[in-house]
Amino acid sequence: MKPVGPIPPVFAGQRRLQVGGVDFAELLARAGDTPAFLYDGAAIAGRVAALRAALPPSVGIHYAIKANPHADVLALIAPLVDGLDVASGGELAKAIAVKPARAVSFAGPGKRDDELAATLEASATLHAESEGEVERTLAIADRLGLTPRIAVRVNPDFELRGSGMRMGGRASPFGVDAARVPTLVRHIVAAGADWHGFHIFAGSQTLDTAALIETQAATVTLAARLSDAAGYAPAFVNLGGGFGIPYFPGDTPIDVTAIGVALGDTLAARDPILSETGFAIELGRYLVGEAGVYCTRVVDVKRSGDEWFVVVDGGLHHQLAASGNFGTVVRRNYPVALADRMNADPAITASVVGCLCTPLDRLADRIALPAVSVGDTIAIFQAGAYGATASPQAFLGHPPARELLV
Ligand SMILES: *Cc1c(COP(=O)(O)O)cnc(C)c1O
Repeated sequence: MKPVGPIPPVFAGQRRLQVGGVDFAELLARAGDTPAFLYDGAAIAGRVAALRAALPPSVGIHYAIKANPHADVLALIAPLVDGLDVASGGELAKAIAVKPARAVSFAGPGKRDDELAATLEASATLHAESEGEVERTLAIADRLGLTPRIAVRVNPDFELRGSGMRMGGRASPFGVDAARVPTLVRHIVAAGADWHGFHIFAGSQTLDTAALIETQAATVTLAARLSDAAGYAPAFVNLGGGFGIPYFPGDTPIDVTAIGVALGDTLAARDPILSETGFAIELGRYLVGEAGVYCTRVVDVKRSGDEWFVVVDGGLHHQLAASGNFGTVVRRNYPVALADRMNADPAITASVVGCLCTPLDRLADRIALPAVSVGDTIAIFQAGAYGATASPQAFLGHPPARELLV
C-alpha cells in the first residue's frame, strides 16, 4: 500500500465531496457526465484574498493563465488580480477579453510575428525573450506605426532551490542572460520603445519557504544591479513566482505570511534606483490548483494476480500530472478519495487506472480504498491547474473532460 497526497483544506474532513457547498452528485448532473473538473470559485477568490492580506500592499498579484484558462475561471479571477500573464497568441486573446490590455503581459519563447503584432495592436506588454525578438518587435512596431511596450525577461544567474521546474542559473531558452541585459535595455530605450522593466522568473512549484524568500531577495538585488548597469530605472519588475502546492505524501504548504513579511523587508531596503518601481509576483497553480477536483466514474473493478484495479472513465488524457508523466521524476500519488465516502475505512488496496490503452495511465498506485463498486465516483484533488489544457485530450479519441465552475 502506498500513501496518497494530502487532501487540501477546502475539502478535507468532508464525508461526501462538496464543491462550493454543493454535493458532487448534483454537480456532475449539472456538468452533464463524468469525467469532469469541478472548480470551487469561492476557494479561488479566498486564496487571492488571503495572499493579498499576506503580501505588502504595494506588490501586485498576476495570474499566469496557462495554469487554468477556462473562460469562467478567467472571468472570476481577472477582476481579483492586478495582471494576467499569457504565453501564446491564443492566451493573449482570452486575457484581453477580460482585462485591460495594459494589465496583460506576454512572455514565452517562440513568439511568431503575428503574435508580436497582436501584442502591439492590443497595447499589451511584451516580455522579450531574446535580442532577436526585440529586433523583430521593433521592426513590426515601425511598420504598424506603434510604440511597443517591452519588458526584458531575464535569465537570472541563480535558480529557485527546491523547484519542480528550474528556469534560471544555466543556459536556457527562457529570457536573456543577465550579463547581456543592460546592453539590450539601452538598445530598447535608444530605439524609442517604452521600456517597461524586467521579468525575472527563477522556477516553479517549490514548497521551500526559505528558498522562495531568498529568491525574491536575490531577484530584487538583480533588478537593481541590471538597472544600475543599464543606467535606467525600471517602471516595473515582475518578480516571478514559484509558489508550490502540496501534491504528494509528506508535502506541506508554504508560509505566505512569512514570505510577505520578508518581501516587505526586502523592498524597504531596496536600492534607490528601484524607489519608483512597481512590483508584482506571478502565480498559476498557487491560485487555482487546490480549488479543482477531477471526478471520474468507476467502470470496472477487476483482479489480476494478487492486485485490484479500479478502472475509471477518465485518465491521463485529462489529468496527465496525476499519472506522474508531467514534470515529475518519481511517480507518487496525488490526493485521491472515493467521493461519496471520503472518510470511510479502507477495505482494499487497489490501483486506479484510466481508460487509455497504455500502462502509463495509472492515476493512483496501490492505494487504500473503501469497498468500491462500478458506478462510484473517484475524486482526484489538486486538479485546478494544469489539468484539462495540459493533458493530451485528443489521445485515443475519448471525449474532452467537462469543466464546471461552482
Ligand atoms: C508557467 C509560468 C508561471 C506559472 O507557474 P506556476 O507554477 O503555475 O505558478 C509563471 N510565470 C511564468 C513565466 C510561467 O511560464
